Amino acid sequence: MKAEPMTRNGGKIPGATLQRLPVYLYRLKAMRNQGVGRVSSRDLAAQLKIKPSQLRRDFHHFGGFSRPGQLYNVCHLIQRLEEILVLTEPVEYVIVGVGNLGQAIAAYSRFEADGFRLAGLFDINPKLIGLNFRGVEVKDLELLPALVKEREVGLGIITAPPEAAQGVADLMVSAGIKGIWNFAPVNLQVPESVALRDEFLSVGIMSLHYRVCEPGRLNDGEVA
Ligand code: NAD
Repeated sequence: MKAEPMTRNGGKIPGATLQRLPVYLYRLKAMRNQGVGRVSSRDLAAQLKIKPSQLRRDFHHFGGFSRPGQLYNVCHLIQRLEEILVLTEPVEYVIVGVGNLGQAIAAYSRFEADGFRLAGLFDINPKLIGLNFRGVEVKDLELLPALVKEREVGLGIITAPPEAAQGVADLMVSAGIKGIWNFAPVNLQVPESVALRDEFLSVGIMSLHYRVCEPGRLNDGEVA
């Protein structure tokens, strides 16, 4: 099993910092793609609309950006962040429920560039089984445990209907999946050893609408 993200002193990275690291990585990769070789904490913080001191505090956990005003090598920072986020090797994931949302996620090839490889697609609908999305064939759900074992799949995405989601989660857990990204609008029960992230899209659109109706409220989309 892969290691948990650690600081340079071997301690666990605080949760709030961990939430921001992928945002830093994403921005640094964009800079590298634009040919930017070096960056200061002030410039990177300005691009992300956060305070430079916050950025330096976050990077302090694993070295880098220790001195204000100093320029740092973008590729080196990317490498360190990828090590911290345990993204140095491709991470395999499966999608269960290959309907509208499952197909949309399967079509999103950018995950590969981020380090995540689509290993399998599963459904129970015979009309979908055998179809191919980005070179991956939809298989019967029964075949999930074998593929998880064979490919050492770490992550599972649930895009099945709400009433099927808990059964799918149970199957994923018993197959050995360690992280579940759940799009079904239900609260799933999983063991503590399994990481669960819910993505309730309806909650997202409702809270966005509420913010539109209450213009004085804080913008919770900021990174800090
Ligand atoms: P969909 O009906 O298009 O697709 C669901 C798929 O799951 C179907 O292909 C179905 O055959 C499959 N399925 C059913 N039972 C299964 C099982 N036991 N095991 C494996 N596969 C099974 O639905 P959708 O619009 O793609 O939505 C998927 C999930 O995401 C739902 O829980 C829905 O509530 C949630 N969601 C979707 C959206 C959206 O924008 N589409 C928005 C918010 C939430």
